[in-house]
Amino acid sequence: MNLHEYQAKQLLARHGVEVPGGQPCTTANEARAIAEKLFAEGQEMVVLKIQIHSGGRGKGVFKDGFKGGVHLCKSSEDVHKKAKAMLGNTIVTKQTGEAGRQVHTLLVASGEKIVDEFYLAVLLDRETSQPLIMASREGGVDIEEVAETNPDAIVKLQVDPLLGLQPYQARNLAKALGLGGKLIHSGAKLIAGVYRTWWECDATMVEINPLCIIESPNGTQKIAAVDAKISIDGNALHRHKDIAEMRDLNEEAELEVEASKFDLNYIKLDGNVACLVNGAGLAMATMDAIKHYGGEPANFLDVGGSASTEQVTAAFQIVLKDPNVKAILVNIFGGIMNCNTIAEGVVAAAQATQLKLPLVVRLEGNNVVAGRKTLADSGLTLIGADSMAEAAQKVVAEAAA
Ligand code: GDP
Ligand code: MG
Repeated sequence: MNLHEYQAKQLLARHGVEVPGGQPCTTANEARAIAEKLFAEGQEMVVLKIQIHSGGRGKGVFKDGFKGGVHLCKSSEDVHKKAKAMLGNTIVTKQTGEAGRQVHTLLVASGEKIVDEFYLAVLLDRETSQPLIMASREGGVDIEEVAETNPDAIVKLQVDPLLGLQPYQARNLAKALGLGGKLIHSGAKLIAGVYRTWWECDATMVEINPLCIIESPNGTQKIAAVDAKISIDGNALHRHKDIAEMRDLNEEAELEVEASKFDLNYIKLDGNVACLVNGAGLAMATMDAIKHYGGEPANFLDVGGSASTEQVTAAFQIVLKDPNVKAILVNIFGGIMNCNTIAEGVVAAAQATQLKLPLVVRLEGNNVVAGRKTLADSGLTLIGADSMAEAAQKVVAEAAA
């Protein structure tokens, strides 16, 4: 599950990481009020940032031509004007795709004087099964670009998960970023806090880009997280009720949200062959088979090993909501799954949705005779298949017809 920048900063602050003060809001009037407060506290600048689950906001362009999702403002009137221009408007960034994202929330924060920008991230290295910290002096820009053009500029540090990040490691990393004097201490403290956030929150990734040296009007410098991105392991959310509440359904694909309500693993894809399968492995193999015969899957859908009739019905309805779908393939291997449950779900859903699309069914395994009978007695026009290859071939042909 991805978090917004303002939520990520709340979690970081809880773990002792320095972040610029600010508040989220959803209206231009609120934005002005927060800005007025920050100016009254002595801030010279206020930064206004759109909150979407996508990076590259600074360089994004709104559909009406308004440029940038990150703005430094010198007056609360300017904050109000820019907030009005961005709220409800749709922005396209390098990461959103052409459709872009509609803006519902803004972060109004103190606009810091930035002296230098760095990159810092903690993630899980799947090759070593250990936490990995990546840091670079080249912050603020695309890290993928740095990795490609100047890989030596990225410092990597493996952390022993049992020991955790040691203070000397954090100090060494701060030095590797080129920090000196008191900033080594401030940097090491921040790095330790970022690691702790990653660990305590069961995050899969915490990314600070830019991590900045900021300077207050009296000339003192410190290290702060000016932008932050956190992804939480969805399987650990039951341990973090407060974080689970941060989920923003506006930012997730509508059909995927619907599927998650029924505990279905659904991912929408761009093709026109819908598939309804039990088991992630079989679902992937089914998608491969569809592609092998020249088709394109419209989705990944694993109904699980012990789905109920209601879940199967919901799954069927969800795949049918995708307007690109031209044919459906049900591919079930009943190990634990009872084939008749699937058959009943398919019949109920086909009737409820008055299905007109071609439906290819391959059922095999536990209670398959009863399942086939349910389908045969239903009066639905089905295309049967005895093997997965045959099923894939038939459904691809139907989708193309
Ligand atoms: P992103 O484009 O989605 O990654 O959004 P960021 O929060 O990283 O902002 C983009 C850029 O705007 C940063 O790299 C900074 O250069 C600049 N920026 C963001 N916040 C501030 C701020 O408080 N003060 C100043 N001076 N610049 C900022
Ligand atoms: Mg950034």
